[in-house]
Amino acid sequence: VILVSDNLIEVSNLRKSYGQGDSRVDVLKGIDCKIKRGSICTLLGPSGSGKSTFLNILGGIESFEEGSLMVDGLELKNLSKKDLLQYRRDKLGFVFQFYNLVSNLTLKENIEVGAYLGKDPLDIDDLMEKLGLVEHQGKFPNQLSGGQQQRTAIARALSKSPTILLCDEPTGALDTKTGNQIMQLLVELNKEGKTIIMVTHEPEIAAYAKRQIVIRD
Ligand code: ADP
Ligand code: MG
Repeated sequence: VILVSDNLIEVSNLRKSYGQGDSRVDVLKGIDCKIKRGSICTLLGPSGSGKSTFLNILGGIESFEEGSLMVDGLELKNLSKKDLLQYRRDKLGFVFQFYNLVSNLTLKENIEVGAYLGKDPLDIDDLMEKLGLVEHQGKFPNQLSGGQQQRTAIARALSKSPTILLCDEPTGALDTKTGNQIMQLLVELNKEGKTIIMVTHEPEIAAYAKRQIVIRD
């Protein structure tokens, strides 16, 4: 019998600090939460409260000292560097505030980079069609608007068909209207089954998600 938990992510008493001795800063002071498979959830909190730190820990980019973090049946604390790399490749798609596209690759090539990393990549033409990017596919990032760049970054993250989409302030560099369009896109992707975890400090953006996890200072 294989038991598949309803919870994709289970965090208990997770602690993280930076620095040592007098310069030690305790950033995450015992986080407990569960995130359901197929849900959309925002991490909300003031600047400096540790939202990015928590997202990066979920993403296997940062380590943590204490507590437990289970993602899809894996205890991240126990994974070797190599296994963490595999975890990031197989399960995660990342979307950032400033898109992080490769400037000398076209829109389509940027998406191909993501697909190349996946075991079971999605069809890139379908993805561009879905995200309204087909007519721009030959352009370079500096020829695209902020919204188009972010949709490209989302397509790149989705192209490897990740279990979880982690987004760090994905609307932070966009005007309100474009930001709302990006949120509608994320909500739509969630309805199709993608688990989405998103950092924001804007309550209006957080309101798009059914579930909010607030990180306090
Ligand atoms: P948020 O994303 O909520 O604005 P961060 O997670 O980026 O907050 O940062 C939380 C705290 O941790 C801040 O005080 C920040 O200065 C500190 N911090 C983040 N990354 C590092 C690092 N690599 N080294 C030292 N301190 C860091
Ligand atoms: Mg941040």
